[in-house]
Order: sequence, then structure tokens, then C-alpha cells
Amino acid sequence: MSAQDAAKLSFTIDGKEVKAEPGQTILQAAALAGIYIPHLCAMKGLSPWGSCRVCTVLVNGKPQAACTMPVAEGMIVENDTAELKDLRSSIVEMLFVEGNHFCMFCEKSGNCELQAMGYRLGMLQPRHDYMFPTRQVDASHPDVMLDHNRCILCARCIRASKELDGKNVFQFIHRGAHKRIGVDAAGGAGGTNLAVTDKAAEACPVGCIVKKRVGFAVPIGQRLYDTKPIGSHIEAGRAAKE
Ligand code: SF4
Ligand code: SF4
Repeated sequence: MSAQDAAKLSFTIDGKEVKAEPGQTILQAAALAGIYIPHLCAMKGLSPWGSCRVCTVLVNGKPQAACTMPVAEGMIVENDTAELKDLRSSIVEMLFVEGNHFCMFCEKSGNCELQAMGYRLGMLQPRHDYMFPTRQVDASHPDVMLDHNRCILCARCIRASKELDGKNVFQFIHRGAHKRIGVDAAGGAGGTNLAVTDKAAEACPVGCIVKKRVGFAVPIGQRLYDTKPIGSHIEAGRAAKE
């Protein structure tokens, strides 16, 4: 065993031994080992956030968010159980009914992580009532549109703007059921210094932040998740942006 390997921690996910660096999260270590733990608010390159809870796993029998929980020697992680699948599906169902998602008319369809997660988890009819909220569309920016009907409040745009772009274009406004993504200009995104080339303009997992004039450049049926389920690139052993 090399000195490098000796410094690694060892734990198991669904009975499979995984080696990890101290300080890594369960989600990071799992991805590097080719094990997909479903998640939405986590994104490679951004700080852990822990808000969506789709990545909930059992650690030594207790529920924990895999995106924020650091690995520890000997921990026993369960990721693939019927109960966890049902919990994750329930969360995704809540995200669907809380906003207005009409996939057949959405530019993000086929590239959308929420939609792909629904398919991966086998989601059919949501067990919760649809809320059909009244939400705004912000088309004030020349190159980027914000459709708040599709926002899942994952904060990826907030973190990408701050941590990768060195800006503070996005932040949350209001509280509870009225919580929304806001921008740092009274008149909407058009008054901010958001650039179409910003990482924040690409971090949105759903069709809330979309670029103008490139819609449907890739036809439906040929998009990222049209042919392979979400997470399959991790299971194929490749690290990626998710
Ligand atoms: S954001 Fe995703 S889930 Fe929502 S309507 Fe668009 S494709 Fe469907
Ligand atoms: S706009 Fe997109 S990236 Fe930002 S919080 Fe909403 S869903 Fe997440």
C-alpha cells in the first residue's frame, strides 16, 4: 500500500468499499468511485449547500445530506434503498407541484435535471396537490431570461455568481412559501451586471435561467438526458458538473 493510499479513509456505500480523501463529502467520494447519489442543489465547483435534500442517505442508520456530510473512517452509508427512493421522489414531486412546470413547452426539456430526476426516480402522478402559483417572467436582460415559474430555489445561481463570477447578481428574497430568487437591481436582470458568459447563467439545473436566441438549437430527442438517465456519466466512472 502506498503512503498516499494509507492516508485515505475507507468506508462503504451499499456494501461497496470506497476510499476517500479526508475532508471530502460523501457525495464527492461517491462520484469519484462511480456511485451516483441523486442530487439537485449540489454542483461540482460550488460550495456545498444542503438545501434540496434529494441526496439524503443513511449514515450508520441516520438520515444525512450526502453533499454536506464529510466522510469518516468506517462509516456505513446506504444510498440505494426503497425508502430513500420514495423520500427522494416525494421531494421531487413537491418541487414539481410548488412551481409551474409544463415540460412540453419548456426550452430546458431534455437538459433539465429536475425532469431527468423525475424520470430516474420513476415519478408518475405527484402525491401532493398542484399549487399553480402566479409567478413572473423577467425578460429585461438582453441575453438571458428568468422564468420564476420553474425555479426550484437551489441557490446554484447565487453561489456561481459569487464564487465563480466574482459578482453578486442573485440572492433570495422574501420568506417561506413566498421565497424567490431575486437580482441586485430593482428593474430586473436587465439592470444587473450579469453577462451571458457568466457561470451563473449556466448553473441553473432547470429552465428558470435560460439564454435567449439559442432556444431549441439542439432538437428535442437529442439532448443530454433524452438518451441516458441522469447520473449515468458518474456510474460510467466519469466526473462531471453534477
Ligand atoms: S424546468 Fe424542467 S421540469 Fe420544469 S418545465 Fe422545464 S423541463 Fe419541465
Ligand atoms: S434560478 Fe435556477 S439556479 Fe437559481 S435558485 Fe432558481 S433553480 Fe436554482
